[in-house]
Amino acid sequence: MKSKRGYLTLLLSIILVIFISGCAQQQPGLAERSEDSLTDDVEVYDKDEELSVEELHWKRVFAKAFEIVDCAEPRDPSSLPDGYYKGSMIDTHIHLQNLPGGVPGFPDDYYTGDNLGIKRSMEEWVCMINVEGTKQVWGFFPVAEPIVQESVDVVKMTLEKYSDLFVPFINPPGNVEATVSAEELEMMLNLELGLFKGYGEIGLYGNPNSPPLSPNSTILMEIYPVIKMHKLIVYFHLGQGQKEAYENVARANPNITFVFHGGNLFNISETQAGISHDEKVLVLIEELLYNNPNIYYTVNELYGGDWLLELGRSKEKFLENFADYEALLEIDLPMWKGFIERHPDQVLWGTDRGGPTIWDKDPEVALALNNYTRVFIDRLDPIVQEKFAYKNAERLLSE
Ligand SMILES: [Zn+2]
Repeated sequence: MKSKRGYLTLLLSIILVIFISGCAQQQPGLAERSEDSLTDDVEVYDKDEELSVEELHWKRVFAKAFEIVDCAEPRDPSSLPDGYYKGSMIDTHIHLQNLPGGVPGFPDDYYTGDNLGIKRSMEEWVCMINVEGTKQVWGFFPVAEPIVQESVDVVKMTLEKYSDLFVPFINPPGNVEATVSAEELEMMLNLELGLFKGYGEIGLYGNPNSPPLSPNSTILMEIYPVIKMHKLIVYFHLGQGQKEAYENVARANPNITFVFHGGNLFNISETQAGISHDEKVLVLIEELLYNNPNIYYTVNELYGGDWLLELGRSKEKFLENFADYEALLEIDLPMWKGFIERHPDQVLWGTDRGGPTIWDKDPEVALALNNYTRVFIDRLDPIVQEKFAYKNAERLLSE
């Protein structure tokens, strides 16, 4: 009885496999491609014929991941009027999207989410950066099972295609924890030695699917030696009550550069998107900077402290915020000018773009953010302007 059931299960599995591969091979995108190739180029058709469903899938996804998009002419910062900072800028907080992680070979609409190579192209990020005249960005590239190799390949291709535009950070989420284990991280880094310059952004504050992770948790304590060996910069988003553990870890690893952002060290209200404009938040951050020369802070929270690029908001509403620069400056200057000037060598500029909000890469949005930020920087002490805008970021990578 038992063996008969086993035999039936095997037979059913074989039928299912044949059915699934049949579906995948008949998907419209691939059929169309084969027809095109037949009429245009017999050789390409023959080559594609030899590829497996999985190989064809990745070929198509990678082509779409770098597809050209409409992009406006770049705005030359030096063409801006007086009152704007006109120098270089490096954005130290840009998220990239992951490739589709599901079973390969289905049409695009099978894959849910905003995947690179399905709905998004790297060219959207490149357009955003070029339009506003930003020199370089620190890019947080997701790398996860079961598409670790493909995710690393995207980073490689990005660097080959856009040379100095991206400084790649490896961003490997764990199944439940905020990060993979040291062993897994090491395996990922070894796929392409020297490719990644940083590790993060790792969100240590927790969310409904993942508990908060302390900077001195076992998983992270095992990761720091890997970080040291691969000479990576660490990028954290800290959580409430993690100041002491973070400080201890930074002291124990004086040769590692620790960058962080976010107001979660202090309990911020659930309705607040971004950092609370409460001086207490800055007190904790400043203590960390004063006492630890290897700790740095990215200021992502200009524009009145709001995370304007939050999912669910509209582009139109976003743009309305910039109708009156002086009103925004009245909030941002008292909060951040003194902070930046007190820590001229430990502050970085960033925007936290590229996440789930689709319109945050829009050229119009990029210009609105960048123009305002240049006005803000122009109001800082001239000694600190370039350091905050790009020189500190540049120095960290040359160290
Ligand atoms: Zn964050």
